[in-house]
Amino acid sequence: MMQLVLSGGAVMLSLAVMGVTLRRQGVALSACATVAALLVASCLEILDLMAMLEPDRLLEWKRWTVAVESLVPAAWLGYSLTHARRTGEAGMPRLQWFFLAVAVVFPVVALTNPPDALFYSPDFAMERVLFLTATGYYFYLGILLFVVISLVNLEGTYSNASLPARWRIKFDFVGVLSYLSLLVFYYSQGLLHRSLNMGLIPARSLILIVAAGMMLYSILARGNGVRIEVSRNMAYKSVVLVAVGLYLVAVGVMGEGLRYFGEGFPKAMAIAAAFCGGIALVVLLLSETLRRRLRVFIHKNFYRSKYDYQTQWLRFTDLLASARSGDGLKGAILAGYCEIFGMNGGTLFMRSGDDGSFSWAAGRDQAPSGAVFRPDDPPVRQMAEAGWVVSLRDEGLAGFPGADTFLKEYDVVFLIPLTSGEGLEGIVALGRPVSEGERYHYEDYDLMKTMARQAASALMNLRLSEELASARELEVMGRVSTFILHDLKNLVYTLSLTVDNARDHIADAEFQEDMLGTLGNTVNRMKLLIARLRGLPEKQSLCFEEVDLLRLAEESASLAGGRGSISVGGSPVSARVDREEIQKVVVNLVVNALEATEGKGPVAVEVGCGNAPYIRVNDAGCGIPDAFRAHLFSPFRTTKKKGLGIGLYQCRRIVEAHGGRIDVESTPGQGATFTVWL
Ligand code: ADP
Repeated sequence: MMQLVLSGGAVMLSLAVMGVTLRRQGVALSACATVAALLVASCLEILDLMAMLEPDRLLEWKRWTVAVESLVPAAWLGYSLTHARRTGEAGMPRLQWFFLAVAVVFPVVALTNPPDALFYSPDFAMERVLFLTATGYYFYLGILLFVVISLVNLEGTYSNASLPARWRIKFDFVGVLSYLSLLVFYYSQGLLHRSLNMGLIPARSLILIVAAGMMLYSILARGNGVRIEVSRNMAYKSVVLVAVGLYLVAVGVMGEGLRYFGEGFPKAMAIAAAFCGGIALVVLLLSETLRRRLRVFIHKNFYRSKYDYQTQWLRFTDLLASARSGDGLKGAILAGYCEIFGMNGGTLFMRSGDDGSFSWAAGRDQAPSGAVFRPDDPPVRQMAEAGWVVSLRDEGLAGFPGADTFLKEYDVVFLIPLTSGEGLEGIVALGRPVSEGERYHYEDYDLMKTMARQAASALMNLRLSEELASARELEVMGRVSTFILHDLKNLVYTLSLTVDNARDHIADAEFQEDMLGTLGNTVNRMKLLIARLRGLPEKQSLCFEEVDLLRLAEESASLAGGRGSISVGGSPVSARVDREEIQKVVVNLVVNALEATEGKGPVAVEVGCGNAPYIRVNDAGCGIPDAFRAHLFSPFRTTKKKGLGIGLYQCRRIVEAHGGRIDVESTPGQGATFTVWL
C-alpha cells in the first residue's frame, strides 16, 4: 500500500514536471531530454511497483523493467548533456559522443537476454533480492558507470554556472543529484554483493518525489532557460568521481571485512573510523595551512572561480588603454574596480605634498574629499610594504586619523594599495557593495591585487611622462633663449661695430652707403627673428582673405633675406588663405632651404595651380637623410645645432588648418622640394 502511494506520487509529480517543461520550452532538445529521463524514471516506478504487487509474475514484469532500465544510461546521459547547457560551436566533446554510442548497447543486451539470464530470485515474495548472474553483473555495472558519468556532467554544468545562474538552477540540480545518487547507491549493491536489493525501491520512489518536486519548484518559481557554457576539462577535477570512488572503496572494504571478520566487523570498523576521523579533525583544526588548503580545495571544486581572470584582465586593460588623458586614466581605474567588484563608488588618492601624504585625485560617485592618508599611519605603511588589501569590515577604521569621516560617510569596505616598483603610487577606496550581502574572499583579493599592479604601473607611466613633458618644456625654453641670445648677440655685435666705425668715418660718403646696407641687413634679420618667434604661440582662429599667392611668396622671400640667391617665379594665383599664417609657412620653408644650402642658395620658389593652388620651395642643398624623414614634422626634432625643430611642425599644422597638405621630395645630398597644396 505504501509503495502504491509513493510510486503513484512520484509518477504524478514527474508527469507534472514533464508537462510544465514542454509548455515552457516547447520541443527543444533539453526539454525532450528532461521528458525522456523522467519518463524512464516513471516507468521504472510503475513496473517495479507491479513486480512487488505481483511477486508471482516477477519475471514477466521484470522483462519490461529490464527493457526500461536499459534506457537509463542514454536517458540520464542525454539529460546531463543538455540540461541548462549551451552547446557551443564546437558541439559536444568526442568522448561524450562515444558514451552516447555505448549507451545504445544496453537496450540490445536487454532485448537479447531474457530476465532470468540477468538475475534469479529464489524467494522474491519474502526476500525482495535479485541475485545477479555474470551478464546481469556487467549489465548493472554498466548502468552504474553511466549514472556516475551523468553526475559528473551535471557537476560540470553547475560549477561552470555564474552566481545568478546557479541561484536559478539550484533546486533543479539538487533534486536530480539526489535521485542519481540514489541510483548509484542502488546499483552499487549489485557491484558489491552481486545482488540488487529491491527493498530499496520505496527509498527510490521517495527521492523521485522530492526530486520532481524540486524540479517543479525550480521551473515555476525561479524560471528556466539558463544556458551555461561548460569548459571541456571539467571531468579532470570532478568531486563526484572522487566521492563515488571513495564511497565504493569504503563499502567494498566493509563488505570484505564482513566476509573475513564476521558480524562483529562493522562495529569495530565504525569505532576505528570514528577514532581516525577524530584525529583527522583535531589535526585539521590545529593546522592553519591544512585548513586553508581544504578551504581552497572546496572553493575551487564546488564553486567555479568567481571571475574569469582572462576576461577581467582584458576588460581592465582595455579600459586603461582607452584612457586619453591623466584624468581619463584615473577614472578608468575607478570604473574598472567598481564594475568588477560590484561597488557603488570609489575614490583614488594619490601622493601629493612634500610629506608624501595621499590626497583626493579622482572620484566615482563619491564627492571630492579633504581626507588624507599619511605614510606613517601604520596601516598605510603596511599597505606600502606588503601590498595588502585592507578590508575595513574586518579591520575597522582605526589607524586612519586623517580619513575616518570620509571612510564612514561612504561606507568604504576596501582600501587597495597601488604599488609599483617605485613604491605606493596611490590608494583606491571602494565603498558600499551593490549587493550588501556579498561575501568577498581570497579570490577577490587576488584579483584586486593583480589589477592594482597594472593600475599602478599605468599611473607611474603617467607621472613619468608628465615629469618628462615639463622637463622638455624647460629644455625648449632654454633652447629658445639660447637661440634668441645668440642672434641678438650677433646683431648687437654688427651694430656696435658700425657705431664704433661711424665715430671716425661718418663723413665718408662710401662709409655712409656701407652703413645703410649693414643697417638694412640687420633690420631684416631682426624682422626675421621676430617673425620666427611670433610663430611660437599658436593662433586660435584663422582670418581668411583673398590673397595673391605670388605676391605673398615674394614678400616672404624678401622677409627671409638672403637677397639674390632666392628666385620667385610662376603665375599669379589667388586663394582664400590667412595671409599672415601662410607667410609664416613660406618664410619657414625658405629659411630651411637657405640653411640647407648654407646660405648660398640657389632657392627657387614657384607658385602655380595644378589640381589646387600650390607654393613650391626647391633647393639644391644637403637634402633630408632617410633616417630623419619620419621625424621631419615632429615637434622638437632637428638636425641643426641651433635648430628648434618646430618650424616644419608648425607649417604642417597651419597648412592642415587650411585643409591643405605639404608634400616633400628629397634626395640626400642633392636637395629637397617642399610643396604646399592649398
Ligand atoms: P629647425 O629648422 O629648427 O631644425 P624645422 O622643423 O624647420 O626645425 O626643420 C626640422 C628639420 O628638417 C631640420 O633640422 C632639417 O634637418 C630638416 N629640413 C627642413 N627643411 C630642409 C631642407 N630644405 N633640406 C634639408 N633638410 C631640411
